[in-house]
Amino acid sequence: MEMKRCCSCGEEKAHSEFYLNRGRPSGSCKACRAKQDKARKAAKSGPRKVARKEKLVLAEKGLKRCGDCKAIRPKTTEFFGRSTRSEDGWLHMCKACESAYRAALWAKNREKNLAQQAQARRDAGVPERKPAQSTEERNRKARERERQRRLDPAKGEELRRMQRERFKSNREVLLQRQRDYNRRNPEKIREQNARSRARRLQVEGEYTGSDLKRILIAQDFKCFYCGDVVKNASRAWHADHFIPVARGGTNHPDNIVIACADCNLSKGKKLPWEWRPERFPPPTERFTP
Ligand SMILES: [Zn+2]
Ligand SMILES: [Zn+2]
Ligand SMILES: [Zn+2]
Repeated sequence: MEMKRCCSCGEEKAHSEFYLNRGRPSGSCKACRAKQDKARKAAKSGPRKVARKEKLVLAEKGLKRCGDCKAIRPKTTEFFGRSTRSEDGWLHMCKACESAYRAALWAKNREKNLAQQAQARRDAGVPERKPAQSTEERNRKARERERQRRLDPAKGEELRRMQRERFKSNREVLLQRQRDYNRRNPEKIREQNARSRARRLQVEGEYTGSDLKRILIAQDFKCFYCGDVVKNASRAWHADHFIPVARGGTNHPDNIVIACADCNLSKGKKLPWEWRPERFPPPTERFTP
């Protein structure tokens, strides 16, 4: 039998041990089947290939792994910045890592950056800003104003007028600042809305933006009811009262689940067992022996 030497392992092997290759003068590959199979397998399970495969699997679920902190997060503008230069259109690191990176970069050239900002403000004609107040300072001042209002209604009216004047004189800048804040802190806005609704309806208990974040993470960014990945925090997920407020549910965090808009709206004011009795049996059935 005619033999052929493998260029890779150096052994003499029968022609049947080599893959056919019409492009080569000998009609078969230079390296033997065993060696080629091994090389192919190695390439398939190499770290790059594995990472690539994971990327595809995650992308299918609308998720992405941060190249910096390695955390898996929804591929939404809440967690990742956009990029025109990357393959998938998103920045390779998550927003938390990105802001840490930017902050470090900014701090490196702090003096220069501050001077540049001040110049830009002067160019745009933005009024000089007083140094930022601490939260305690701001709350103390608000309490003081409130006290003065109660003591002396005329003085209170005067203070209110001054506040309105101040707002009017700088309206656009202040409104833009408020809009920027709202966009950056969707959970905070939900918290405020929920709080004022709760106050209006006199519902017991309250939950905060950080409660919502905690619940989101505990639910792995999936709808509590259907398991779909919830998208952009500012719109597509709802803080759902498991027992609706209209049916006596509280505002305590343990009555709050994250739901997709579809499930939340479809559930409406129904009790879970009125909505989906097969999944949430009514309490009497659940607890009788
Ligand atoms: Zn070989
Ligand atoms: Zn990260
Ligand atoms: Zn859902």
